[in-house]
Amino acid sequence: MSIRALHFLTSILLCSAVLHAQSPDGPDTVVAGSVEEIAQATTEPRFLSPWVSYLPASNDVVSPRAFLHRIPGAPGELVRSSVAYAYSRALAASSPRVRVFTIGHSEEGREIILLAIADEAGIQQLDQLKATTAALADPRKTDAATAERLVASGRPIYYFNAALHSDETGSTETMLELAYRLAVSEQPQIRRIRENLVVLINPVSNPDGRDKQVDWFYRFLRGKTALEDLPRQAPPYWSKYAFVDINRDAHQQAHETTKAVYRMFYAWHPQVVHDLHESVALLMTWNGTGPVNEHVDPLSYSERLELSFHEVRTLGGMGMPGVWTWNFGDDFAHLFLDSIGLNHNSMGRGYETFGNGTAETLEHTLSADETTVDWYRPSPPPSGKFRWSARDNVNYMETAALAALERIAQEPHTFLRNFYLKGLHSWQAGLHEAPYGFLIPDSQGDPTRVAQLVARLLALGIEVQRAAAPVNLQEGSFPAGTYVVRLDQPYRNYAVDLLTPSHFAKDAGEPYDDVSWELPAHYHLDVIPTADPQVRSANLTPLATAPPVAGAVSGQGSVYLLRDTGQEGLLEARYRLDRFRIRIAQQSFNTRGLDFPAGSWILPAQAGLGAAVHEIATRLGLGFVAVEAAPEVPAHPAPVPRLGVWVPWADTDTIGWLRYSLDQRHIPYLYVRDEDIRAGKLRDKYDVLLYGHVDLELAEQIHGIPKAWGPMPFKKTAATPSLGTPASSEDITGGIGWSGLAELQRFVDSGGLLITLGSGSALPLEGGIVRGVRRELGGVPRSTQGGGAAAAAAANDAVTRTPGSHLRVSFARPDHPIAYGYPARTHVFRQNFPLYATPRRWLRMAYCTGCLDGPLDPGGVVLEWGDREGRPFVISGQAWGEANLIGRPAILDLPAGRGHVIAFNFNPVHRDLNRGDQRMLWNAIINWQAILTGPAQGPAPGAPR
Ligand SMILES: [Zn+2]
Repeated sequence: MSIRALHFLTSILLCSAVLHAQSPDGPDTVVAGSVEEIAQATTEPRFLSPWVSYLPASNDVVSPRAFLHRIPGAPGELVRSSVAYAYSRALAASSPRVRVFTIGHSEEGREIILLAIADEAGIQQLDQLKATTAALADPRKTDAATAERLVASGRPIYYFNAALHSDETGSTETMLELAYRLAVSEQPQIRRIRENLVVLINPVSNPDGRDKQVDWFYRFLRGKTALEDLPRQAPPYWSKYAFVDINRDAHQQAHETTKAVYRMFYAWHPQVVHDLHESVALLMTWNGTGPVNEHVDPLSYSERLELSFHEVRTLGGMGMPGVWTWNFGDDFAHLFLDSIGLNHNSMGRGYETFGNGTAETLEHTLSADETTVDWYRPSPPPSGKFRWSARDNVNYMETAALAALERIAQEPHTFLRNFYLKGLHSWQAGLHEAPYGFLIPDSQGDPTRVAQLVARLLALGIEVQRAAAPVNLQEGSFPAGTYVVRLDQPYRNYAVDLLTPSHFAKDAGEPYDDVSWELPAHYHLDVIPTADPQVRSANLTPLATAPPVAGAVSGQGSVYLLRDTGQEGLLEARYRLDRFRIRIAQQSFNTRGLDFPAGSWILPAQAGLGAAVHEIATRLGLGFVAVEAAPEVPAHPAPVPRLGVWVPWADTDTIGWLRYSLDQRHIPYLYVRDEDIRAGKLRDKYDVLLYGHVDLELAEQIHGIPKAWGPMPFKKTAATPSLGTPASSEDITGGIGWSGLAELQRFVDSGGLLITLGSGSALPLEGGIVRGVRRELGGVPRSTQGGGAAAAAAANDAVTRTPGSHLRVSFARPDHPIAYGYPARTHVFRQNFPLYATPRRWLRMAYCTGCLDGPLDPGGVVLEWGDREGRPFVISGQAWGEANLIGRPAILDLPAGRGHVIAFNFNPVHRDLNRGDQRMLWNAIINWQAILTGPAQGPAPGAPR
């Protein structure tokens, strides 16, 4: 473009924006230069609204432009968390309409803050307004007349959450400007918002990731303005454990980000929890296509639709194209950050705007199906090429946020009353409909896991009580000590959602994420619903925290036995007792009238053992029995392995949850990078190498991030102070490469145990570290959904899919150490993964009648899909094409050289949820040596191996 043409275009932009800003009734004065700078940073006039086309001026309150020396969304700049916080505090210090609170600290120690914005009167009454929403949240304590009075005197509280996903960079910039505008503008619309609402803003909900992303941008992306030339737009980590899955933590609260939002929720009881994301053009305001989750109050869905259509209408009316709703994901699983609102009688919602990992302006072309006119997208995004800037993103997000606030400020009492009604509906359902409660027997196989379930429910705001005397109900008699969830409580709906199976209809389309989150199935615990309203008359003691499980050491003697009842804590116990010899019984035995199943521990007399056992029993809630002499039973030694966890730079997300689970249990492991694999000598360092699920194709698992982008250092430097944690690298490109694959082969051949989970199992099975296992057609190669083939196959069984379901399995080798602590038939949680066939001695290598597939070699199958006695496959969730999965291997144990590969066809450490599945993995680690040296399985003498 010529200078002359550029000048012409710029003048059109300026002119248009100035007209927008200087509306005749506008009471605001304008920050000098802001109109021009915003217009210049906006690529087309239609991507700007009059509401955000200027910064209102204030004599007293510091503007983001004055503080940052630029407008929010300026090209080529991103604000880091410390600066965002400094501006937030400067804003609060200069405006009586803004306050700042600290609601948490990140894994790396950064603060997580919250701004509260209202008019002066609102700020002075914050405590009273919080007390009002807290009272409305509990209809048991607030009758209808009181509620009406509170509705009249209270205010809806609207919470914005920014920067959860770190490469979605516009929301922090947007929220700083929104906070300022809400504090100083005298536009009637803004005054109405300020006087009728309290607006909460968390400007950087994941500050560790924000700062890594900002460093990444300035190091690798700044100045690059051609989309096709951009390297990877995100650093490999967004926090100690998290990448994109930080938004799958609503039921667990594993991440500090989530814990901070829960703290905010319980303190403020906001009516809306609004999470800001950036992935589709130009602004999509969330409402799923269905199926919807029946345990969320219909009012929440209808309120959300109402707000979304208000946004579509308002921005469309301003001539801003590409604002739409509905056709994105389902509304079935509420496990995302905004779900904290939906699950607690508030509203959870979100945007996807057209953001960039970079703050540079790029040229885009959308696909044809993104630009059609539809009822849910009356004004589609542009077809053909268009340029999109960071400021365009701010313009859309901020204008829509103002529209949503405007809508609630028009009817504040309605939204506040609805909040009360949702709690009322939930509580009343628990009073008048079965089930009236759930009973959780405390004496189930692993009492610690029972306590973990109770702790999780309490952390989610669900009230749990404990029977002080036996509870007699139509379902039976439950002893004192049984945990009871009475359902006459405001969060009854959430309790039912978590404690009962889900059913995703087969013809309901393609789910967006997990279709089961049933906690009893995840924890392998019995939780019994009762249809007997007498549960409310039981003698129950409310619990503030889950009681610690008392361990015990009984008996006399210097030999200690530990009965295996499926305790999840055995891995931690093994490492805490690492200086002691332990033998593990391979068969059941009976001592002193007690049955000890296979897998039970025998600790021979050793110096210092008694004190250590007492300490472990108390710490981990385990029960040991002291005896004079070890029982006569076949047993194997269980030395502590040197454990390595390989985390490929190309995908750290799912293995982040695995590392989290290991850290929670204080398991020492070595973090293994791609370059550590390439460096070799693996057997010198590790006995067990664990490779978790990765959402990568086989070639990407081997070759990693493209070398063409390298070298890409991920390390702490003066210019990139936030990079290099939790692991550091001179160059994250190139993966392990062929040489690394050879080192893995050498590790196994020389006597190492390689354990692979989920799609990580493709590496040994399809990469050829072990042979004879064929990848079958008809599976989905990765855990995530929405792929073309899978979507096309929705509602039929052509493609086997189990997108996050609880499924029955049977142990083909119930004597294998992986089976310790489990019945012969049980269940596990499975997402979408490839399908693998039962191993054969060899697979055909050429077309010749004498060298077709070898005979089946099923000895390596430890666990198989399906219930051998024919019970239904699905416990909770849904499965498609299950006939092609049932009978196939769920866990393989295959020898190679002097080592073994254990390949899971599921992920036993899924997002810290399926705690009942974890023992299978823990068993493989604890019994690594027995697996390597165990009784020979499989091939007849002379077979090639
Ligand atoms: Zn996102």
